[in-house]
This record gives sequence, C-alpha cells and structure tokens, in this order.
Amino acid sequence: MGLEKTSSEMIDPFGRHVTYLRVSVTDRCDFRCVYCMSENMSFLPKKDILSLEELDRVCSVFVEKGVRKLRLTGGEPLVRKNILHLFERLARHLDSGKLDELTVTTNGSQLKKYARDLFGFGVRRINVSLDTLDPSKFKLITRWGNLNKVLDSIDAALAEGIKIKINTVALKGVNEHELESIMTWAHGKNMDLTFIETMPLGEIEEDRTDQYLPLSIVRARLLDNWTLNDIDYKTGGPARYVNVQETGGRLGFITPLTHNFCESCNRVRLTCTGTLYMCLGQEDAADLRTPLRASDDNVLLSEAIDEAILRKPKGHDFIIDRRNKAPAVSRHMSVTGG
Ligand code: SAM
Ligand code: SF4
Repeated sequence: MGLEKTSSEMIDPFGRHVTYLRVSVTDRCDFRCVYCMSENMSFLPKKDILSLEELDRVCSVFVEKGVRKLRLTGGEPLVRKNILHLFERLARHLDSGKLDELTVTTNGSQLKKYARDLFGFGVRRINVSLDTLDPSKFKLITRWGNLNKVLDSIDAALAEGIKIKINTVALKGVNEHELESIMTWAHGKNMDLTFIETMPLGEIEEDRTDQYLPLSIVRARLLDNWTLNDIDYKTGGPARYVNVQETGGRLGFITPLTHNFCESCNRVRLTCTGTLYMCLGQEDAADLRTPLRASDDNVLLSEAIDEAILRKPKGHDFIIDRRNKAPAVSRHMSVTGG
C-alpha cells in the first residue's frame, strides 16, 4: 500500500511533469561570492538540517514519484560532512534504472579529493562554477577562494572521466571582457560552458544593478568574432545552447531576466531543512520535514509533495532595475540551491 500511495506521478496545474529535483544539502560554503552571499552570513543551526539519511529518504520518494534527474547543490555540497555517503546511497537508483542522472554543482574547492569516488558512485557529468581565470579577480569575486585549487580539481575530475560544464555568471565591469577567453579555455578542454545572468536573490552588500550584465549584450559581442549556431541541445535545464563553429564547443545562455524560461520548467528545489520550493523565483514553499519526521513510512511525505506540486506557479517575477532595489526573493541562492 505504501508503494502505491507514494509512487503517483507529479504533474503540475500547467501540465508540466516534474522530473528534476535539485537538493541543497547545506547552506554553508567555503566561498563568499559577491553576487551570492554577504561576507557575514548567518547559517542555519545544525538541528534544523536534515540528516543524510533523511535527505536520502526524501530524494528516494521523489524518485519513486518520477524524478529522473537529481542534482546535489548548496551552499557548497562538497563541504557537507560525509557527503559521499549520500552519493553512495543514491547510486542505487542509478543501478535500478529509476534515475537517469545523479549530479552535482560545485565551486570545485573540494572536488579533487572526491572526483574518483564520485565517478565510482555513477556521477558522470557535473557543473563547476568559475567566473574568472585571473587569480586576483577570482579572490575578488569569491572573497575566500583559491583559483589554483579549483583548476587542479577540474583537471582531476576530467582525468577520472567526469564530463564538466562550467557555469560563469556574467558580471558587469568584472569579467565581462574575459568571457571569450573563458570560452576558449573551456572548449579547449572539451568542457561545455554556460553563461548566467545575475538573479535578484537575497540581500548582498553590492548593488545588483551594478553587477547585472544582460546576456543579449554578451551574445552580440561574441558575434563580432565567433559564429554561433543555434542547436537543439537540452540538458533538462533552462539554458539555450549554441555551437561555436570555430571552437567546436557548446555554449549555453541562462537568461532568467531577458528571457523567461518558465514554460518548460520541470524542476523543484529542496533545501537542507526539508523545505520544498516549487519555483526559484517565488516565496511559496512547502514544509516536507514535518511529514518526514512524523512517521516512519513515506505516505504523509508523499501526500505533502503531491499537494505542493499542485501549487507550482506558472513562472517567476524577476526584475532588476533602478527603481526596484530590493531582491525579488529574500532568500539567497545558497539556500534554495542554484
Ligand atoms: N557552491 C556551488 C557552486 O558555486 O557551484 C553550488 C551552489 S551555487 C548557489 C550554484 C550556482 O548559482 C553557481 O553557479 C553560482 O554562480 C550561481 N549563483 C549564485 N547566486 C547567484 C545569483 N544571485 N544570480 C545568478 N547566479 C547565482
Ligand atoms: Fe558558495 Fe556557490 Fe554561493 Fe559562491 S556561488 S558563495 S561557491 S554557494
């Protein structure tokens, strides 16, 4: 009976099938990227955070209900203690064929030491966030990061056979004139690259209108030197891809502000406290920790998920302009997971 009640498909009121779950396994991070966190962040008390066993339980119910792709993110997922244990547990869903992909988004700081095990647990493609190849700029953006460590990690993961997509946030006046060299570097290593616009999530010290660089401008500039051919490549994410003729590499654009991608949204996001966000850009959320902890079987949890999916909104309301200085959503990206 438990199985029947927990395995219903997740289809939202707009007919979108939810097949992708992103899980922020920790809100903590060993970097303090200027667009993501303030320098003095206060983090959640440990007692509020789901244990690795609880995270496994919630993820497994989502897999029963039709999730085919699972991404662990954060904060920095690889700073969570014993995180490999969670990958090891979740790998059983890859083995059973219920899950197509288990993956991670990381800043790369700890990746070198985990790359081999991650490959062993079935992780084949990961995202690494990197906004500059200039060591001093890297320090400026991440505040606490070390570029060489990240570059070493990238090489280690590639050597293990893990495919990497680099995510680069386009920042006005910071890396905007470096984007082409990041592209040739990434494509030279056979890595995909995605440019991302800054999103108005959470209070930070800087003014977001100063950071915001529309990707329409980036694309127009690239066209001066490169041939971009639109392609139909899809990773289950919101990026629109082109093939760069001269490098032979793939380049994606994630444009939440200049282009709305909600109509094909197939994802929901779980925080490390068991809160489910049905949309990155809306405040509405469902508490899954209470039903999770209320009983040992998963019936209540499954019902809470069904109810939440019925509240998945049509789209987000991101807007960054001079009149609208407050973030559209008060929580940081590190809470919901990027
Ligand atoms: N710590 C990991 C990392 O940096 O890859 C995973 C979590 S991080 C929140 C996920 C992604 O969100 C990163 O690529 C980061 O650049 C991006 N990000 C964070 N805050 C953002 C914002 N306000 N706008 C756009 N992207 C943001
Ligand atoms: Fe940490 Fe990732 Fe946010 Fe940077 S973007 S502060 S690495 S969570």
